[in-house]
Amino acid sequence: MSLLLLKKILPAHTRLSLRKLFWLSRSWLYLGNKVYCPLCEGSFRTFLPFGSERRPQALCPRCHTVERHRLLWLYLQEQVSIAERPLEVLHMAPEPILQQRLKRLLNLKYRSADLTSPVAMDHVDIQALPYPDATFDLILCSHVLAHVPDDQKALRELRRVLKPTGRLLLQARLTLSAATLEKPDAVTPQQRLQAYGQADRYRNYGQDFAQRVAAEGFKVEAVEYAQTFAPEDQARLGLGQKEVIFVASPEPHEVS
Ligand SMILES: [Zn+2]
Repeated sequence: MSLLLLKKILPAHTRLSLRKLFWLSRSWLYLGNKVYCPLCEGSFRTFLPFGSERRPQALCPRCHTVERHRLLWLYLQEQVSIAERPLEVLHMAPEPILQQRLKRLLNLKYRSADLTSPVAMDHVDIQALPYPDATFDLILCSHVLAHVPDDQKALRELRRVLKPTGRLLLQARLTLSAATLEKPDAVTPQQRLQAYGQADRYRNYGQDFAQRVAAEGFKVEAVEYAQTFAPEDQARLGLGQKEVIFVASPEPHEVS
């Protein structure tokens, strides 16, 4: 039976469970004590290469998370005290293993949301969120905005549903260009594939990412969290070197 046929006939949840079972069985091959994944809490002899440029030491053999997931989870534990504080959390485009870890924390009031993902609790458009104003203490939005037609609208929506004291944590793939690349005439998936290298992207962010977020009413701090770890811990936890977590807090509305 072909993979394509299996994909058609099996429900998404079953496919995900089967995939997890496959990863779990394969991870036995990599057991060891050189690297440690804080998300699945497994120790392995290596992380696996991953990505179009085949980054070494990237993919966890068991839970299939990469550098940015592990870094975010450590940040949440150590800097947000995610396991201890009563927080209302919105997780956009939830990564399954991270969602699983967050759902287990009974101190959280947790919602996950995505346009179509079968693992998300709510199916929503990030450009028009269904939640009341000032609902969430924490919003996680990792590698989402480049795939949204109007990212400014999405940022305004995220700001609206965030409490004034809340935090929005963003991660994004940035190019080395100073400015974000947006080609309004790339409208079909094929044209976007040519323009951005992926058919489901609407832009490639440049080094101006933080300014673009700030322009929608946030104070933004770019946290190079991996750099706060000793080099041997960076390697052991597979954190990558260039991953940045953008911590955005809403600026108070100007009184007119
Ligand atoms: Zn793992």
